[in-house]
Amino acid sequence: MPHTLYVGDLPSSLSFGPCVAIDTESMGLNWDRDRLCLVQLSSGDGNAHLVQLKPGAYDAPNLKKLLRDPAVTKLFHFARADLAAMARYLGVMPEPVYCTKIASILTRTFCVRHGLKDILKELLSVDVSKEQQTSDWGAPTLTTDQMNYAASDVLYLHRLKARLDEMLAREGRTELARQIMNFLPTRAALDVAGWRDVDVFSHKPVQRPD
Ligand code: MN
Repeated sequence: MPHTLYVGDLPSSLSFGPCVAIDTESMGLNWDRDRLCLVQLSSGDGNAHLVQLKPGAYDAPNLKKLLRDPAVTKLFHFARADLAAMARYLGVMPEPVYCTKIASILTRTFCVRHGLKDILKELLSVDVSKEQQTSDWGAPTLTTDQMNYAASDVLYLHRLKARLDEMLAREGRTELARQIMNFLPTRAALDVAGWRDVDVFSHKPVQRPD
């Protein structure tokens, strides 16, 4: 997988166009405990740019500028988790956002599998390995397998978005999807603020142990 690795931040010269595919890798999924280790980005041109973040070194001004740019759509698969990790560690909530998982859930209603591997296989006939998903992303030196895996998580998202946009239009759900995606930063902010496992829309929003 074509990729370039940077440590600490993106170079200032890089431009990703109007829509940048982004994924992140962390030590786990508990944001209070598990630090953000890697941010992967692609403009959809077949190249991935990987930014390795060392413990406590979250300045990354060029990366944050891109995440904050209102003219650039940030494209994710399962944006909610990546948004929470970036809000917690970089102090930036990326907007505007597109999530291929939400688009898949709203269109591929005949299917219960909305993992990236599954939808890449079905919609683009692309096979990606998930073998490195749970590897040690905090290692000081990432392996070639890890970097190839990390790159593969962003390289196909633009093509996937194009297919899912067609399906959303066909099913008359483009506007519904847009509104849900616009809400994602708020949903992720709730996760970071401590409401991760609470459905604030539920009739019984507070869960107490019996
Ligand atoms: Mn990933």
